[in-house]
Amino acid sequence: MGAGIAVGTGFEETLLEQGPDAFLLLTADGTIAYVNAAAEALFGYPREQLLGVQHTILLSEDERGGFLRIFGRLGRGGQAAKRPFRAAGRRRDGIEIALEITCSLVTFNAGAAMAVAVRDADHRNDADSGRRLAVSLLDATLETTADGIVVVSCEGQITGINDQYLKMWGMPAELVAAEDPMVLIRFIAGQLAHPEYFLDKVSTLYADRSLQSHDVLEFKDGRTVELYSRPQKVADTIIGRIWNFRDITSRQRAQDQARHAMEELAEQADKLKELAFQDPLTGLANRMLFNERAAAALLTPEPVHVLLLDLDDFKEINDVLGHHAGDEMLVEIARRLQSCVGPHGTVARLGGDEFVVLLVGCRDSDAVAQRVVSALNAPVSIEGTLIRPGLSLGVASRNDGSMSSSELLRQADLAMYAAKEAGKNCYVHFQPAMLAALLERTQLTAGLRRAVELGQITVHYQPVISAERLDVVQFEALARWDWGGQLMSPDDFIQTAERSGLIRDIGAEVLRRACSELQPWLAADSFRSLAVNVSGVQLQHRDFAERVLDIAAWSRVDPHQLVLEVTESVFFDADTHVISQLSSLRAAGVRVALDDFGTGYSSLGRLQDLPVDVVKIDKSFVSMLRTGVEKLPILTSMIHMARSLGLKVTAEGIETPAQARYLMEHGCDALQGYLFSRPVPASERQNAVRKSAAAIAAMDGIPLPG
Ligand code: C2E
Ligand code: CA
Ligand code: CA
Repeated sequence: MGAGIAVGTGFEETLLEQGPDAFLLLTADGTIAYVNAAAEALFGYPREQLLGVQHTILLSEDERGGFLRIFGRLGRGGQAAKRPFRAAGRRRDGIEIALEITCSLVTFNAGAAMAVAVRDADHRNDADSGRRLAVSLLDATLETTADGIVVVSCEGQITGINDQYLKMWGMPAELVAAEDPMVLIRFIAGQLAHPEYFLDKVSTLYADRSLQSHDVLEFKDGRTVELYSRPQKVADTIIGRIWNFRDITSRQRAQDQARHAMEELAEQADKLKELAFQDPLTGLANRMLFNERAAAALLTPEPVHVLLLDLDDFKEINDVLGHHAGDEMLVEIARRLQSCVGPHGTVARLGGDEFVVLLVGCRDSDAVAQRVVSALNAPVSIEGTLIRPGLSLGVASRNDGSMSSSELLRQADLAMYAAKEAGKNCYVHFQPAMLAALLERTQLTAGLRRAVELGQITVHYQPVISAERLDVVQFEALARWDWGGQLMSPDDFIQTAERSGLIRDIGAEVLRRACSELQPWLAADSFRSLAVNVSGVQLQHRDFAERVLDIAAWSRVDPHQLVLEVTESVFFDADTHVISQLSSLRAAGVRVALDDFGTGYSSLGRLQDLPVDVVKIDKSFVSMLRTGVEKLPILTSMIHMARSLGLKVTAEGIETPAQARYLMEHGCDALQGYLFSRPVPASERQNAVRKSAAAIAAMDGIPLPG
């Protein structure tokens, strides 16, 4: 439009050109279309550099937003628009100058332009510099803030407004140009969910210029806006009101989401807490809840008893009938337990088939224990199979004095194991001696473990004499714990080794040593053999047979010269796996001897079914033979029966020549005992052989029993 404006020539032009005030003409888009000489002088630019350029070049940076506002106002012909106002200008040399500006609208055929008269205001005594500062600060705030702001003077004039404000309300610029705050207020109210509230607020604020307020306004479209309103002051004078709108929709949403999430979490936490204290299968209390209740009970002076029980053979039920049946069984046990225990008790499942009852304030825990044993032991039908659950129950009590719940539980545990050993389906009270026994056992286990690592397990050999050859044909390897020169007897550690599983390493070590120490002696005569004791625990390991044959191969001992001594207990709950281990060993030539024969219960009848080659008649039978003239029908029938089944018979524990004679006469194939030699270390084996020969020779003079 600028090029379309023609300034006339002649008197007016001269006046304009040479007038005292700086004078500019701005087009509707803010470009400079005309400047006079005074303007050139004031700003320090030659005319050519100003024409066609944006007018903002002449304003200080803080002032550059106001043009359109003024232009709009002029367009509406408001009186206020024509009043002079202050602004900060900027000269070509960068220096800022105080200006007083007056604007008016000029209309041409081509459109509207703005005539601007500018006067240097520096000379004025700047009484209201505070106001200018406030205004310039406000303008800066308006441009940079994310809030929508409108400032209305006490006279009802809009003195500040920013883009954010227009955007927030979707407010057309014309509406602002209307210069009427009420128009804006109505426009805003139209978009609110509760317009009356807003309008009330506005009138309250209008009534009292000094009020501050903070409100939250809800839009119909779901947005939320915070309104801060406070007076605009210069020094202590209120000159207007600032309306500050802040869109907090996303903040609000985030807060809502956070609150919602918190509520959900709290709900879940409640559920988790419930679950955390409950055994999911049986609905009983779990270990945590038990501990909590036990700890609370132990703070009271009441008697507190703990009944700990586990089911015998539960694993078999699981294995044979399946896990579903196992679960059903556990649920039934839980139900029975609950019914045995009155209101004083908490029944908890500690896991697996282990249950615990906490009795608080109960005067007769024995009665409850007895009730539990009888109730649980009654038959239950699980998936059509009638099962009688077996259990072992240990009881520990705190009658007075301080004790922790874990201590109580440990004592009950020891008592429970004692109940198992006492033959199951009974309850046993904790005794302090049980603790001592346990301590001894655990110390022994630790010591034994070290002994295995340090190679302190050694082997002694006891000769076995053939009745036919009257010569040593076998050595039995017997483990010794060489404890710093002091030998410990296997009776003192084999049981512990079996319990801890260490027997596996010990057994392998004994076999390895015995094979390598006896290899030359064995190799010299294929009739000779080596006997090694084997525990049931060792046979439970899948690779047992393989390990034995490996060691034989490694030490170059013919498996035909190996005898493994097992007791009949390994066949009691013989799974097919134990039998097959022994079968494959026998297939490789290894012989199996039934040790301590006669001390078991069922072996006489079952002997023919067992995969054994030799029976070793226990020394308790041999010791019955004192003079050699006793009638010992059991002993002789054992020998005959074994022989009739094609088994070889060895008698052990022979201490007198008479015993030796008697056993030989009654058909024993081999003899072993202190009469011939005690077990000796490998280095004294020759001695043992000589001693044995001497004992055999001495037997000649002994008359046969009559
Ligand atoms: P066992 O297999 O019955 O071994 C025979 C035990 O009787 C040996 O005791 C032996 O010293 C003793 N003995 C031998 N002749 C006589 C005698 O004339 N009179 C008397 N009163 N006793 C005699 P030891 O060496 O103390 O072994 C005890 C038990 O320890 C063995 O009994 C065996 O069951 C077990 N054992 C020993 N070594 C091992 C081993 O390496 N592995 C396994 N699993 N058990 C072993
Ligand atoms: Ca033996
Ligand atoms: Ca024996």
